[in-house]
Amino acid sequence: MIFPKLNLHIHSLFSDGQNSIDQIVRESLKLRMEYIAITDHFTNTWKSDIIPTLNSFAKISRYLEKLNKCRSLLIDIGENLKLYRAIEIDVNSSGSYIKDLIQPDRFDLILFEYLDSNKRLNFLKNLINGWRETYQKKLPIIGLAHFDPSRFNNIQIELIIKFLKDYNIFIEFNSRYPQFYTIMYSYFFQKIRKSEILVAIGCDSHDLTNLCDISNPVDMIKYYHLENNFKNLLNSLK
Ligand SMILES: [Zn+2]
Repeated sequence: MIFPKLNLHIHSLFSDGQNSIDQIVRESLKLRMEYIAITDHFTNTWKSDIIPTLNSFAKISRYLEKLNKCRSLLIDIGENLKLYRAIEIDVNSSGSYIKDLIQPDRFDLILFEYLDSNKRLNFLKNLINGWRETYQKKLPIIGLAHFDPSRFNNIQIELIIKFLKDYNIFIEFNSRYPQFYTIMYSYFFQKIRKSEILVAIGCDSHDLTNLCDISNPVDMIKYYHLENNFKNLLNSLK
């Protein structure tokens, strides 16, 4: 298959990225990219003291407004670039902080980062169950950013796979963390293939230099024969 130029993990000046959303969109057009998601950070852990984050309802609203304007502009000028309104939520944030500030139906895509224990897995299940009750079918596409399989033993990996399947959650191949996709984790990716878990590509871009740095993720998706999993993700983006 021919892989589209897709990067579903980009940070802007709304958190710790170095560029404005306008600059990211302009560069993506230059690179002839087809799908991008702006995924600025959301957390109230220690991290929020050292990096800017989407830390208020007003700021999140300004962020979404900006993304909406860019999307309409892209449609008006007939560009083939799809821009998704997204956010990257740290699963170590407090539940009340997430519930107070995040209305999931305002986003096209939500990434969760740092899922690394059963405790956080249960936290995430509870959060999404709550959202399902409130928002029903209006939930966005959900994915796990730079998931590290080494954090879980084989039995726990089964639970993770079941979770991804039950909740239709994708696994990201992140070009900044090639160590999470090595053949050491073949057993994990075989299960991903058999269970038809969605897979995506993200570059964790914080500046314009690696906006389309997708060759390693593409190679690993091919290596594990996950092309169909990736195609299914593309379908759910449409
Ligand atoms: Zn990120």
